[in-house]
Amino acid sequence: MRIARYDDNRFGLVEGDEVIDVTSALSALPAQSYPFPRTDLFVEHFEKLRPAFEAAAKTGTRRKLKDVKLLSPVANPGKIVAAPVNYKKHLEEARADAGIHHQQQVGEIQKVGLFLKATSSVIGAGETILIRHDDRRNDHEIELAVVIGKTADRVSKEDALNYVAGYAIGLDMTIRGPEERSLRKSLDTFTVIGPWFVSADEIGSPSGLDLELTVDGEARQNANTRDLVLDVPTLISWASSFYTLHPGDVILSGTPEGVGPVLAGNTIRATIAKVGTMDVKVGHI
Ligand code: MN
Repeated sequence: MRIARYDDNRFGLVEGDEVIDVTSALSALPAQSYPFPRTDLFVEHFEKLRPAFEAAAKTGTRRKLKDVKLLSPVANPGKIVAAPVNYKKHLEEARADAGIHHQQQVGEIQKVGLFLKATSSVIGAGETILIRHDDRRNDHEIELAVVIGKTADRVSKEDALNYVAGYAIGLDMTIRGPEERSLRKSLDTFTVIGPWFVSADEIGSPSGLDLELTVDGEARQNANTRDLVLDVPTLISWASSFYTLHPGDVILSGTPEGVGPVLAGNTIRATIAKVGTMDVKVGHI
């Protein structure tokens, strides 16, 4: 099942090039009051909502996807966990290119660990990435985004995929430079999640998925998730050995080689097999 969030917080079932409004199904979500939970309610209750989404789709209003504004399908991720240099060829290109490594030693992921991006950086495919530091190199990074569906605390690799609700395309936008990753990657609009949420059953194994990114039609990144240094189950298991993962937490699994700069006016087209394609505009704040 593919679910999009769009326009004024509508929820829709994605079918072909259309989205069917199933927002009414969300009335089944439990009422909340302050202090609100840090989980994402849609993701937490996704399996229970499925039949209601299917029922609502029978009579829901259909719109062309190209006519709606896609928002992040995860509205309230509790944390964005991200994997640095998790493809071997990207590690090699980062070490070879001073514009990427900025005289810092680029360590292997097993040594440098994971990092966190601010949740305030999240946007959807229909929003615009906004450059604020023109004097710096602002790079694209396409990544498979893993959406956690169940509370995961110290889970094993073997069991890890049972905690995944679904997947999306992630863009881990990055300013190159000497500062900590969490600063350079947490600017407003620098985490794109989209174009929609695809439930885990539609993807099956997250290994073996082609990823492709172009900028204004120019090929930049083209790889496959089978080349991840730490695969998705290992990332989940490792992350959950440090902190509990909650429903709606998103893991950005790392970017392959071919990262490069974008400028205001560019359009990024990102595709992941079995997930979809999204066009994301780059602008200026
Ligand atoms: Mn990244």
